Amino acid sequence: MSTEKIIALTFDDGPADVTPQILDIAERHGVPASFFVCGNNITPESFEVMRRAVSLGCEIHNHSRTHSDMTKMSTDEIMAEIDFTSGKVEETVGIRPRFFRPPYIAVNQLMHDATDLTFICGLGAEDWLDEVSAEERYKRIISQAEDGLVILLHDAQGNVKTVEAVDMIIPELKKQGYELVTVSQLFERKNITPKRGEMYTFVR
Ligand SMILES: [Zn+2]
Repeated sequence: MSTEKIIALTFDDGPADVTPQILDIAERHGVPASFFVCGNNITPESFEVMRRAVSLGCEIHNHSRTHSDMTKMSTDEIMAEIDFTSGKVEETVGIRPRFFRPPYIAVNQLMHDATDLTFICGLGAEDWLDEVSAEERYKRIISQAEDGLVILLHDAQGNVKTVEAVDMIIPELKKQGYELVTVSQLFERKNITPKRGEMYTFVR
């Protein structure tokens, strides 16, 4: 049995003002992260930060265009949401996303049928709630740490408490023997082929 302990750290809702701060921390600790971006947040100003992310070994994936509840959409609307963002990412960093995180983790069969992308969920820390302190975010993430886990946090506009939490989470995970990898690497290292029609929180 393998004793390897690997985890993927992921961030939703960017690119935003805190994304460069997350990248600073990742760079300082020499670890990659995976960013699930919203197409409508990609502006000419975010090109540089997205390219920097990729140059640091991070991955950029798809979190829809408008961050709406997509279970209320038609197939055409779902495809438009996903294709817009994949196109923007490809245009910006030259790599087409392989993974999709549904806004609000709201999913139905129509969504799975509309795209080839594999859906990724994760365990988080309610880090969109301002009343959850950085210390509490850190504690919740560390208490859930397990081999093969996808950690789900948010680099949303102004979310400085998550920046603060991440600066504690990464060194603690490393201390506990975890290696941080991207979402693609998680599948590769576990020798698991991402399946269409499934949504993963653990890959193992
Ligand atoms: Zn989101």
